[in-house]
Amino acid sequence: MSQTQQYTAPSAGTLARYQMLIGGKRVDASAGEVFETPNPFTNEVWATIPRGRNEDAIRAIEAADEAFQNGPWGRMTASARGRLLRRLAELIARDAERLATIEVTDNGKLMSEMHGQLRYIPEYFHYYAGLADKLQGAVIPSEKEDMFSFTRREPLGVCVGITAWNSPLLLAAYKLGPGLAAGNTFVLKPSEHASASTLEFAKLFEEAGFPPGVLNVVTGFGPEIGEALTTHPKVAKVTFTGSEGTGQRIYEAAARGLKRVTLELGGKSPNIVFDDANLDNAVNGVISGIFAAAGQTCVAGSRLLVQDTIYDQFVERLGEVARGARMGNPLDLSTQIGPIANAPQHKKILEYLDIAKSEGARCIAGGAAAQRAECGKGMFIEPTVFADVSNQMRIAREEVFGPVLAAIRFKDMDEALAIANDTPYGLASGVWTQDIQRALIMSQRLQAGTVWVNTYRAISYTTPFGGYKRSGLGRENGMEAVDAYLQTKSVWISTASEVPNPFMMRV
Ligand code: NAD
Repeated sequence: MSQTQQYTAPSAGTLARYQMLIGGKRVDASAGEVFETPNPFTNEVWATIPRGRNEDAIRAIEAADEAFQNGPWGRMTASARGRLLRRLAELIARDAERLATIEVTDNGKLMSEMHGQLRYIPEYFHYYAGLADKLQGAVIPSEKEDMFSFTRREPLGVCVGITAWNSPLLLAAYKLGPGLAAGNTFVLKPSEHASASTLEFAKLFEEAGFPPGVLNVVTGFGPEIGEALTTHPKVAKVTFTGSEGTGQRIYEAAARGLKRVTLELGGKSPNIVFDDANLDNAVNGVISGIFAAAGQTCVAGSRLLVQDTIYDQFVERLGEVARGARMGNPLDLSTQIGPIANAPQHKKILEYLDIAKSEGARCIAGGAAAQRAECGKGMFIEPTVFADVSNQMRIAREEVFGPVLAAIRFKDMDEALAIANDTPYGLASGVWTQDIQRALIMSQRLQAGTVWVNTYRAISYTTPFGGYKRSGLGRENGMEAVDAYLQTKSVWISTASEVPNPFMMRV
């Protein structure tokens, strides 16, 4: 893909009409309702999405349960499941550019980032395809001479995956890779703000040869479709990526049915720069943490902690980069900052800009909606840097989910750690230093599920990802992720010729 290559929205000039996938069939919502989805760059409606409700969720859950209990999926060998996942990976790679274009049109992420993501997502499915037939139980060395015991690692059943709008396909891969490798079936519900790419992606399951009902996709608004998804008795597990507030509601609802839950929630991640760091690299790392994807990433390094000896010069360098960032059409490969994905999020960010100013933070770049000609009718926010922020200000405590950086000063490592850990969240963190001892101590004492040293926003299917504290429960990615989709069965086979005293427990 060359830097000058231009892309166009998938349905330029026409309205795309999407359908849900239930039990292998593409269907409308039961009541025939749809909602419109705007392109955040043009602010024009480009597609309609079925407005599913609880009855549609129930249809999908029943299809997933039927596929799990009675379909060929349940009887398939793990190696055969792996083969299907590998085929799916190949189809995603084939369609990477098309799927990326749809996602960019739907949520405004940069094509340069999305094309990379879509080329990487197949690797998730290859990784978990390889794991499918290596999920072994164990033969237990029993202390009872006449007993042969072993364990089987079995799937849970129907899993519901609920995703956020910022990276629908990547977040779906986090869930489907390990969940399908383990033999579960799925009902996936993407966000109402970005459903199209998931519906398009679902078509590849059919082509890859997955039996009907193994993956179902329903769409709609959380409060209208979420209750059935999180409480239906046939749902074994809910795996959710989204905001802390919704995560809490989903956790409560799922708890009533004693369902398993994985929660990937928000953050207020510290990106910490010591004065011995390679400052050119640190500037790039801080930028990638807060302005990439216009700050709409769960791991956004939205709290910048800078050692006081370099604070003023470092923050001013960031201000320069922010002011010079190229904004505009996310399909244009030279664009560095695209639009905010949807109107409610745009409004929320503007509110936080006012809050920060009223709290006394000093705005050294941005601080307003973008009025640049190249932003057209899109919902843009100028990349913003606030200096002189204290860790008690709301701009330092609450997730903004936008291109807004709050820069805080610290004196030494102890103070940096105290500030960094003084947050209800614990998703990610960054450390910039050339001192190995300091890097190790920081990585040990930071309360976060991910610590990046001299890098930021790196992910891998091989490496566990998830939150400490209020940033979530459980881990996705890596070998550990698959454990959350399995349960262990112990099998006891007696080799004795008779049953001993039936009135006693066999200990
Ligand atoms: P959100 O919580 O508003 O919505 C997430 C999903 O939940 C959507 O699909 C929505 O329709 C659904 N939902 C809403 N109410 C529901 C209900 N009552 N029952 C069932 N489902 C319901 O989050 P968002 O605005 O889409 O995404 C942004 C948030 O996601 C940010 O907080 C961000 O940090 C977080 N996020 C976390 C990660 C991670 O891996 N930790 C990754 C991406 C985004």
